[in-house]
Amino acid sequence: MKTIEPKGIVIHSMAQYLVNEGGKTVHARDFLASIGLSVHAFVEPDGSVVPMKPVPQKASHAGKSKWNGLEYLNSHYLGVELLVEGVHSYDSFIAKIKDPKTFTEAQYTSLANLCAEWMKEYPLISLDTVARHSDVSGVEVRPEAPKQDPGSGFNWLKFRTMLSIRELENY
Ligand SMILES: [Zn+2]
Repeated sequence: MKTIEPKGIVIHSMAQYLVNEGGKTVHARDFLASIGLSVHAFVEPDGSVVPMKPVPQKASHAGKSKWNGLEYLNSHYLGVELLVEGVHSYDSFIAKIKDPKTFTEAQYTSLANLCAEWMKEYPLISLDTVARHSDVSGVEVRPEAPKQDPGSGFNWLKFRTMLSIRELENY
């Protein structure tokens, strides 16, 4: 298994359940696996954390991406998916992630705790290298299909404030 030296974290969002090619409704984890993608963890709407790839194995979550002087962040960054409750098509998912009510308090708390743990374990990860997928794979990097997740409904300032407090408590 290929491992990485984690230097940052990419925050994603996706539907909790999706309909696969065979018409079957599957959990995000199984959906990603079925298309050859992976992430280190999922944060369920109730705040529970579901692991996928063990850290620090390399996962396939960021694709074409660029942040803080590095490209192709799968080789450098951990990845985590916030799950949007329910079964979604691409369109219903995109509508949901613009709604501030989509992401739960439990998700903010669990995500901040998880990122703080990773920052403690891997000192190269800093507040500056915890980024949204839309930051690292936006219009400059992927003009043909810029990434929109985790979405404008995810309160980035609130999350970063929570993470800063945990980072201070770590030291
Ligand atoms: Zn993403």
